[in-house]
Amino acid sequence: MMFSQLTDSLESTLKNLRGQGTLTEENVADSLREVRRAFLEADVSFNVTRDFVKAVKEKAMGKEVLTSVTPGQQIVKIIHDELVQVMGGETKELALAGKPPVGIMMVGLQGSGKTTFAAKISLYLRSKRKKKPLLVAADVYRPAAIKQLQVLGKSIGIPVYDEGEGNPVEIIQHGYEYAEKNGFDVVIYDTAGRLQIDEKLMQELEKARDAVHPEEILFVADAMIGQEAVNVAQTFFERLNFTGVCLSKMDGDARGGAALSIKKITGVPICFIGVGEKPNEIDLFHPDRMASRILG
Ligand code: GDP
Repeated sequence: MMFSQLTDSLESTLKNLRGQGTLTEENVADSLREVRRAFLEADVSFNVTRDFVKAVKEKAMGKEVLTSVTPGQQIVKIIHDELVQVMGGETKELALAGKPPVGIMMVGLQGSGKTTFAAKISLYLRSKRKKKPLLVAADVYRPAAIKQLQVLGKSIGIPVYDEGEGNPVEIIQHGYEYAEKNGFDVVIYDTAGRLQIDEKLMQELEKARDAVHPEEILFVADAMIGQEAVNVAQTFFERLNFTGVCLSKMDGDARGGAALSIKKITGVPICFIGVGEKPNEIDLFHPDRMASRILG
């Protein structure tokens, strides 16, 4: 369903209201039902949808029905603006303000897209922010992750520090020292994920974080896993207090509701979206574009 279709259906549920008094609970009820349906279809979590609909209802109630636009357009605008606001309003760029080498630690479940994002972000920072990044291969549990990062690094000309399948906390520590000695100003750590959240993994990530104090901890979520991404995000947030979110696989047919839910539940902004497998297939996250995508 395209954005215009939701607009059309809202307009038809509200078509008799033009120029008549104010929006009331009764006459917006049908539109809110449409919004709820569109959100759940877009994989926004149930609780987040409920709170959102409530907020929109409060904003719409008592608004005068304008003569210049249809009531449908009016409520679509209220919804759109609220969505943009909940998703953070503006695009968040990584600050990278600390003493170099500034650390960026990638965390998330196995298969979420961490290794790919590590390479994408290194390329992005080199070409758009004129940085000199080092990649550190510390995903020692997933077969082939180290090799994958080396291949990606080579393809974009960004050096990769690795020690094979050693102790990940030590690799991260050594990677930091290597970056410091060799004049890299950003160091991006690819860490291990599991298929499910796992206590040992969390403790290891905490240890790695405490060893190198990365400026940013970026949680990577696969947009295709929808609502489940929210539970995973919540657990990672409780343990690691990540500072940004990367949403992979937005080139698929995911509507992106996970973006809204993760932002709403953790308060942490989404920084990047992945739009393909190649290192240059990365975009900054734009709340207004995502709002249109979620509304469908
Ligand atoms: P990791 O286990 O978290 O390191 O995940 P990977 O980076 O290996 O990604 C898992 C799979 O998803 C790989 O086959 C990637 O090529 C693919 N992938 C990652 N990001 C994207 C994306 O934005 N779009 C698409 N289509 N595929 C992606």
